[in-house]
Amino acid sequence: MRLQWDEEAEAFRRELDDWLDANLPPTEKMREPKLSSAHLPDWAREWQRTLFDAGWLVPGWPPELGGRNATPVQQMIYFEEFARREVPRSLNPQGLSICAASIHDFGTPEQRERWVLPTLRAEITWCLGMSEPGAGSDLAGLSTRAVLDGDRFVVNGQKVWTSGAHHADWCMCFVRTDPEAPKHKGISALVVDMKTPGISCRPLPELTDPDYADFNEVFFTDVEVPRENLLGELNGGWPITQGSLAHERGMLWIGNANNVENGVNELVELGRQLGLGGDGRFRDLVASLYIDSQAVKLIGYRGFTKFMRGQPASEHMLLKLFSSETERRLYLTGMEALGADGVDLDRPGPSGWREGAWATQYLRSFSGTIAGGTSEIQRNIIAERVLGMPRV
Ligand SMILES: Cc1cc2nc3c(=O)[nH]c(=O)nc-3n(C[C@H](O)[C@H](O)[C@H](O)COP(=O)(O)OP(=O)(O)OC[C@H]3O[C@@H](n4cnc5c(N)ncnc54)[C@H](O)[C@@H]3O)c2cc1C
Repeated sequence: MRLQWDEEAEAFRRELDDWLDANLPPTEKMREPKLSSAHLPDWAREWQRTLFDAGWLVPGWPPELGGRNATPVQQMIYFEEFARREVPRSLNPQGLSICAASIHDFGTPEQRERWVLPTLRAEITWCLGMSEPGAGSDLAGLSTRAVLDGDRFVVNGQKVWTSGAHHADWCMCFVRTDPEAPKHKGISALVVDMKTPGISCRPLPELTDPDYADFNEVFFTDVEVPRENLLGELNGGWPITQGSLAHERGMLWIGNANNVENGVNELVELGRQLGLGGDGRFRDLVASLYIDSQAVKLIGYRGFTKFMRGQPASEHMLLKLFSSETERRLYLTGMEALGADGVDLDRPGPSGWREGAWATQYLRSFSGTIAGGTSEIQRNIIAERVLGMPRV
């Protein structure tokens, strides 16, 4: 079977390819290690702005919002090309894909004017204040409290795992505004200026490198937030927690599929270096990972086809779980192949975006199985919503 797009779609790909060839930032800059998710170096701000000006930042949106009204097929091609070239659109993905999109969907015209365009043009960066020490998987249990007092909210509480908070200009922060209401119904979304007195960030050193931190604990003590920074309705924050670029959300798997496929190629190269070409067990593991990498892609395309036909597509509920668990298995296979050398953090590992020791990549590979909903939670969702099993 050979999958291919029609000629019109391929013409779109050629246009994008030509543009990328002419405009891409130097590869070594894009691969600069250890960039925080809200601290944009000059080249990254310029790159996002260049994408915006050319209508290649959010292709499904209209030109005034950094797009070109691209069709779903064109958007799919766009994500395929960015994944194939391993090019980031923005180094503040939570700002672009979640915060700007949510403000666009739920904000007032004044809020859109104030925050959406500056975010798209990379003039401001964002963090996302959802998780708390007592509310991760069960996000609706969050307890950071905001009390409305005249024309301002007063916020007290704590967030955790807040990526890039110590560099971000703004936070889209979910707070409890009605403690008496059922838990999904007492939550509001506030846009918080991270320079407001009473906010302190404590960066958390990472497992992959204790000298580097992107996550933070964020503490709020009597933080005053103007009432006009309420996003959506008071106590109407829950639908916003689900927000992101709805049309794009279903396509993000393509980047994961590409990561897994590239990872398998790196594993083959490692096997060559270690002389494992004749090792039956290693060969079996690599073959099974290769099959899974292709399965991720095919499941994604099948879901996309159903979406295009207006049919319900449960495939997208499987992809996050399947691709993140496959990636974790992939780096574990690399670690096992290396044996005791696997723990040597100075031993060169994969190249390109995943540059760094295999041990580092192995530790990093756990993050995909946690961020945005853990594998256990994904399994619960599949059991209940795809397989129709009873809730436990
Ligand atoms: C790379 C990365 C970036 C992140 N960035 C952000 C960010 O910017 N902002 C933000 O707010 N958060 C962020 N997070 C946090 C992330 O959203 C949470 O870690 C995630 O939702 C899980 O919550 P938790 O860590 O509190 O784990 P918990 O919910 O406490 O879960 C602990 C364990 O129990 C299991 N478990 C929980 N409930 C169930 C259940 N019902 N059934 C079966 N098992 C269950 C979980 O699967 C997990 O193994 C980030 C996380 C990562 C890894």
